[in-house]
Amino acid sequence: MSAPILIIGTGQAGLKAAETLRQKGYDGGLVMIGDEPYLPYQRPPLSKAYLKGEMDEERLFLRPRAYFETASIDLRPAEKVAAIDPDNHRVTLGDGSGLSYSSLLIATGTRARKIPLEGADLDGVFSLRTMQDVAAIRGPLQDAQNIVILGAGYIGMEFAAVAAKLGKTVSVVEARPRAMERSVAPMISEHFHQLHRENGVALLLETGVKRIVGDGRVSAVELSDGTQRPADLVLMAVGAEPVTELAQEAGLTVSGGIQVDAFARTSAPDVYAAGDCTLFPSARYGRIIRLESVQNAIDQAKIAAGSMLGETVPYDPVPWFWSDQYDAKLQIAGLSEGYDRTELDGDPASGSFSLRYFRDDCLIAVDAVNAPRAHMLARRELQGAPAQPSSRPAATATG
Ligand SMILES: Cc1cc2nc3c(=O)[nH]c(=O)nc-3n(C[C@H](O)[C@H](O)[C@H](O)COP(=O)(O)OP(=O)(O)OC[C@H]3O[C@@H](n4cnc5c(N)ncnc54)[C@H](O)[C@@H]3O)c2cc1C
Repeated sequence: MSAPILIIGTGQAGLKAAETLRQKGYDGGLVMIGDEPYLPYQRPPLSKAYLKGEMDEERLFLRPRAYFETASIDLRPAEKVAAIDPDNHRVTLGDGSGLSYSSLLIATGTRARKIPLEGADLDGVFSLRTMQDVAAIRGPLQDAQNIVILGAGYIGMEFAAVAAKLGKTVSVVEARPRAMERSVAPMISEHFHQLHRENGVALLLETGVKRIVGDGRVSAVELSDGTQRPADLVLMAVGAEPVTELAQEAGLTVSGGIQVDAFARTSAPDVYAAGDCTLFPSARYGRIIRLESVQNAIDQAKIAAGSMLGETVPYDPVPWFWSDQYDAKLQIAGLSEGYDRTELDGDPASGSFSLRYFRDDCLIAVDAVNAPRAHMLARRELQGAPAQPSSRPAATATG
């Protein structure tokens, strides 16, 4: 009997690869190993509906337990892969046992970035990436009055919106000059900044953090200007970093992400990678990119599954992403980095509009705010847009 296909990581990418293998008729052994103790689940609600308590746990799970039995997928939660031996097509598990594979998918995702800040290990300081994180935050979030969020990226801004709606005093500290700077134009940052202002959130831009203050438990955050913000809960939302150690130690090519080609193949034979942990060539944008989005995890995993079965379909997506803050849904299609002109469609004061980004008169991205139709049309339009040759270095988008 030949060795199974093995998937490391039971997140969005790992699950989609397994589903796709079965849909495409692969009927051999299929093992999924994930170090989280849950069924595969979706992360976006962790900073939105699930954090607010408006969504129950069952709805987070992407598939019920019964699915894995029916599809003959050997799902192994709460188990870690400790090492990969590509030469011998084997992995070592956390308990020291070994497992052979015919093909391997690495879908290890990202982890929340931690900054080495004095006080970062105090009680009351959290990150937000997993269901376990939400379980730890929920009680303290109800009890806290003063909340300080480090980082005005998507997770920081979404958490701020939830906390503000709970009636908390919320400050967001951001070193950069505006919120969500990596992926949206100044007018979109300003639109969301205004929404937060209207909800009483203090967004402290171009502000650093010296240390988190407390004695066992957090009591304040000391800012770069020496002032202190009272805090009984601090959320570190300073980005995510790809989980690449396994790949690196196995000798695969890694540089700020596991490098794969357009077919999701790594530098080792029969080893593929998909999702947040990968860096891949985008013909559309003419550079190497890493994406942190559900779209990418799903679409690249499908390509990886097809490649494992001998297909040669290249991956070249129109990336898309969304963020919910208060009653505003931001939907991003394409990558706006490198734009030289924008065009506004609609009136921001109405709360519904879109912003189109061009480079050399070529549409490269569209941000839509409470304008789902504009978003869908943009995705279609971008699908047909010509590729953007560029010599830009690797970029990370969304997330
Ligand atoms: C709070 C939050 C909100 C988000 N909101 C949005 C949104 O609105 N829209 C959007 O498009 N995207 C959003 N994202 C991003 C999106 O969830 C990710 O891009 C997506 O989950 C990536 O899927 P993945 O399978 O690549 O990685 P992950 O979901 O990170 O899964 C990887 C899994 O591999 C496991 N693993 C790692 N190493 C090992 C090992 N050695 N052995 C076994 N298992 C291992 C990890 O523990 C993890 O369970 C959000 C993310 C977060 C955290």
